[in-house]
Amino acid sequence: MVITSGEGAWVTDVTGRRYLDLLAGYSALNFGHRHPALVAAAVEQLERVTLTSRAFHHTLLGAFCRELAQLTGTEMVLPVNTGAEAVESAIKVARLWAYRAKGIPDGTAEIVVMSGNFHGRTTTIVSFSTEEESRAGFGPFTPGFVVVPYGDLDALRGAITSRTAAVLLEPVQGEAGVLVPPPGYLAGVRAACDDTGALLIADEIQSGLARTGELLALDHDHVRADLYTLGKALGGGILPVSAVVGRRAVLGVLRPGEHGSTFGGNPLACAVGRAVIALLASGEFQSRSQELGAHLHTRLRTLVDCGAAQITGRGLWAGVHLAPGGPTGRMAAEALLARGVLCKETQTTTLRIAPPLVISRDDLDLALDAITDVLLH
Ligand SMILES: *Cc1c(COP(=O)(O)O)cnc(C)c1O
Repeated sequence: MVITSGEGAWVTDVTGRRYLDLLAGYSALNFGHRHPALVAAAVEQLERVTLTSRAFHHTLLGAFCRELAQLTGTEMVLPVNTGAEAVESAIKVARLWAYRAKGIPDGTAEIVVMSGNFHGRTTTIVSFSTEEESRAGFGPFTPGFVVVPYGDLDALRGAITSRTAAVLLEPVQGEAGVLVPPPGYLAGVRAACDDTGALLIADEIQSGLARTGELLALDHDHVRADLYTLGKALGGGILPVSAVVGRRAVLGVLRPGEHGSTFGGNPLACAVGRAVIALLASGEFQSRSQELGAHLHTRLRTLVDCGAAQITGRGLWAGVHLAPGGPTGRMAAEALLARGVLCKETQTTTLRIAPPLVISRDDLDLALDAITDVLLH
């Protein structure tokens, strides 16, 4: 299947066949393909100026940072390009903060991370992946990371020491199978960080920006992180736009010249990013995710013991964990492709369902009919 065009929740292939897109670019396409407001913002900016480098000011960077801080209730914004760059930047900032503000001896800071994590593909980030496929052959690895089981508060408390700069986690683990941690866990992580003076870094690159029914997935638990990494949907599916946002006392440790990015915060990225922020500020997409997500989960739950072992996730985002003895995730995804529905497996036995938040209820039902059909046959 080779795609030539897309609109909303639909794509068309070279033969003219249409498919519903339930992967949505791993949530980079939360607003669907070619959302008119986002395309208009990009086209208008293409006619003005697209890149200045950070050596020179341009008119949109200040507005983009102010609006993103306002939207997320944070004090400072570090604009970058890809999600991995945002995570790398957050790691650098957390280490610098540990040495300059917390007083940890230079070069000894540790960051506690979770089993099953996915934070990107750079050498430092794969150093603390627990996926053999992501790591094998890419060593030597970056030291300074301690892995604990996701969802286990006692293990986390046991792993935090006087050298801990930060705890880094996904509030919902996407690649691990759209896993939501046990109730109270995220508030417990916040408390553990507060008790020990460690930072909490929430990687909301996939879970954030309305995917789960709130602006940020941590909002469900009324938990605030010290730093958030944002990406994917921030670029509206048009270009990579990511950011680290958070408290001034943390992000503010960076001094001019210590960190940078040629394309970070470029005018085109800021124009699209501001249009994305305007869409999110209306709350419309958070509501759609809540309402359509409730419908999605209600219908998927009827498949438990009928081809599915378990349904996980939150909002318009679900992991369908297939029953043992049935098709693998890959086989189910290919059967869905034949029925005009695009989605992708994660791990070997889980289908991830993450439609664009603009999908209509009727189209969602079409997709759910196809999923039901595949699981029952
Ligand atoms: C996709 C993703 C990343 C990496 O983003 P890239 O833009 O692919 O570098 C990091 N963290 C999470 C949770 C992601 O889903």
